[in-house]
Amino acid sequence: MAEAISHSVRVPVPQQQAAEEGSPSLVSYVLPVYNEVEGIRRFHEELTAVVATRPEFRYEFVYVNDGSVDGSLGILRDLAKNDSRVHVVDFARNFGHQIAITAGLDHAAGDAVIIMDTDLQDPPRVSLELIDAWLSGAEIVSARRRTRQDSRFKRFTAHGYYRLLRHCAEVDIPVDTGDFRLLDRRAAEELRGFRERSRFIRGMVASMGFQQAEVLFDRDERVAGETKYPMRKMLRLAADGVTSFSTVPLRLITRIGFVSLALALLGIVYAVALRVFLPEVTVSGWTMLMVAMLFLGGVQMLSLGVIGSYVGRIYNEVQQRPLYIVRKVIRYDQD
Ligand code: UDP
Ligand code: MG
Repeated sequence: MAEAISHSVRVPVPQQQAAEEGSPSLVSYVLPVYNEVEGIRRFHEELTAVVATRPEFRYEFVYVNDGSVDGSLGILRDLAKNDSRVHVVDFARNFGHQIAITAGLDHAAGDAVIIMDTDLQDPPRVSLELIDAWLSGAEIVSARRRTRQDSRFKRFTAHGYYRLLRHCAEVDIPVDTGDFRLLDRRAAEELRGFRERSRFIRGMVASMGFQQAEVLFDRDERVAGETKYPMRKMLRLAADGVTSFSTVPLRLITRIGFVSLALALLGIVYAVALRVFLPEVTVSGWTMLMVAMLFLGGVQMLSLGVIGSYVGRIYNEVQQRPLYIVRKVIRYDQD
């Protein structure tokens, strides 16, 4: 478990204290939605049925409509009209899953905040187990996948990626854990302070420290619709994970540089010796030349690419644009 790297000198307030101050604790759900028209109503029904079994808490459901173009917003509006616990943060366009979570977190007021997907792949009943772990003292509870019902390709790449990331990241990022999590009020407050633009939230959470716990679960299949994480978005998230939490790729360039310098020195000695001792064969060696040239060219391009992706990150950050743009926040009594 990650040792606490405290970013703040404020003393954490135990969650029991909030409960003692009168009203029951508020549990907020942060729920990103992107084109989930087919499944979102069923999701909400299941979630509300599950939380109804734990009436000792108050609840709040913060749906973030991440620029859906399929009528999801209409359904969310309808949910908000019929349930005072529903808030809808409507984005002006699609900003992506990680940003949607961020906005939800910014709007959530709970003593505990639960982040989960809205396609029923993160089963609502597991969120109660997260709450139980929180009640037994954990400040951050991650839901870790024991199994997952995704394509063989996705399972394979995810498995490899999490282990690679763990190997090179400077913080202890748990494997097989997505963004399905509970954060207590203090942890949520701290996470709100992370305003970087290229976001990898699971890494940011891991880097905060706090008392962390894990709950194992079996990830279900998506109930309706298709994944909203096509290859392009997945690769971007994967790259953000690496560049946010590791400078290994940059350091690798130096190492490759040293290795090719060593090879180059050998080549130079070889070529000069050949010129001096066997002048009649020095014209041959075309293959050698091509190999050396193309290899070095490739390595240089690759290195530039690595540097470029870090420079791109810096560029994104210095622009200081808003993380997201909200068209409207919809609540129960408003239209
Ligand atoms: N999502 C989002 N914005 C996006 C892509 C996805 O808010 O640009 C939401 C989506 O509605 C879902 C969650 O993020 O609730 C996870 O997406 P998805 O299920 O498609 O990813 P997967 O489970 O396939 O990795
Ligand atoms: Mg999903």
